[in-house]
Amino acid sequence: MNKPNRKLDALNYHSKGRPGKIQVVPTKPTNSQRDLTMAYSPGVAEPCLKIAENVDDVYKYTAKGNLVAVISNGTAVLGLGNIGPEASKPVMEGKGLLFKIYADIDVFDLELNAKSVDEFVNIVKALEPTFGGVNLEDISAPTCFEIERRLKAEMNIPVMHDDQHGTAIISGAALMNACELQDKKLSEIKMVVNGAGAAAVSCSKMYLSLGVKVENLVMFDINGVLDKNRTDLDDIRMQFATNRTDVKTLSDAMKGADVFIGLSAGNVVSPDMLRSMAPNPIVFAMANPNPEIDYETGSATRDDLIMATGRSDFPNQVNNVLGFPFIFRGALDVRATAINEEMKIAAAYAIAELTKKPVPEAVNTAYNAKNLKFGKDYIIPKPMDQRLLTEVSIAVAKAAVESGVARKVITDWDAYAEELQG
Ligand code: NAP
Ligand code: MG
Repeated sequence: MNKPNRKLDALNYHSKGRPGKIQVVPTKPTNSQRDLTMAYSPGVAEPCLKIAENVDDVYKYTAKGNLVAVISNGTAVLGLGNIGPEASKPVMEGKGLLFKIYADIDVFDLELNAKSVDEFVNIVKALEPTFGGVNLEDISAPTCFEIERRLKAEMNIPVMHDDQHGTAIISGAALMNACELQDKKLSEIKMVVNGAGAAAVSCSKMYLSLGVKVENLVMFDINGVLDKNRTDLDDIRMQFATNRTDVKTLSDAMKGADVFIGLSAGNVVSPDMLRSMAPNPIVFAMANPNPEIDYETGSATRDDLIMATGRSDFPNQVNNVLGFPFIFRGALDVRATAINEEMKIAAAYAIAELTKKPVPEAVNTAYNAKNLKFGKDYIIPKPMDQRLLTEVSIAVAKAAVESGVARKVITDWDAYAEELQG
């Protein structure tokens, strides 16, 4: 009974009133004839001339500096697959909505009829004058790797494929905190990664940056373990191929493992596999909508377990919205030319640290919780925690300045924090 109603509710939500979820709103007075002569001809010629003289003035006289393009070709939408650019538009509008409500960033969502790397890259590159940043979204692997690599190299504004790096940053923060709670060192943990797609690869790279040793990591794709004998692996995946010869199946790998990372498909981990893991294990079962093992099954199988999923109906939801609004906020505010590794790692640390601070009452209330506190059921902050805006944006902006990609340097960080809160 419930399900059909939810589906209908979702359709009505999108279609009622003005169709879709976002609109464009003027930011200047438009009440008089005089206002309009400034907004458009002839007044508009003045900023045009200034920008023609000094192209950086585009940030002073237009919305570029607060405008992000959310761009997809609809080839890997949610868990729905290659459903095409038009069908991806509700997702991209939704992303625009989240950018706006969490970080006051304006978005144009762009759904492209462009499947090849060259075509996609040429279109997006040509959009650089319009935008302060580019959020790539729901593009299938392996095309997404090359598209992002080329756009980062060939554009001078921040470009981030959120499906890869958002997940990496948030789960990286969660992993640091889970290790702290379980008294494990990142440099010593034995990790199993199930899945070798866009998310698994970028998450694993992040975990290595945070201290995990590649020799302690075993990765699987649908054909089994990635090992040095495989001849079908590209360079990206080959770097995660194990030297171990005693591991063939997921069950083999789970024996004694400290951490399981699932970015594959639902229900592929059994309670027996969970029982075979090391004491105080960590399981991030992030396949959507059905995790590699249910939260209930996992919790019922072991009480020394810390578990996270991609789902909002259980504790510890690994949700990209903890990252992308604030990562772009920080990057835009210092006019960064890129979102680099330093900025991503700074975001992960900021998210991890925020979890350990006392939770404001407003957050407890928003989630109908009594006493959210750093612990097994609270290893990452909640999306509606307004402190994310200051903590994460500032950390990212500082990392941009320190790593030399900021074109505008902030020196008064307290003033910046106040500006963000304003
Ligand atoms: P993807 O690029 O299509 O990769 C899927 C990977 O999983 C592929 O490497 C595939 O193997 C492998 N795989 C599929 N079934 C498997 C199985 N039974 N055993 C082992 N490996 C298997 O997709 P993606 O974007 O990386 O996303 C993967 C999953 O993670 C999806 O369910 C997605 O919803 C979820 N995800 C969750 C979050 C989150 O919680 N925030 C974020 C991102 C992604 P082959 O390479 O051999 O095909
Ligand atoms: Mg996505």
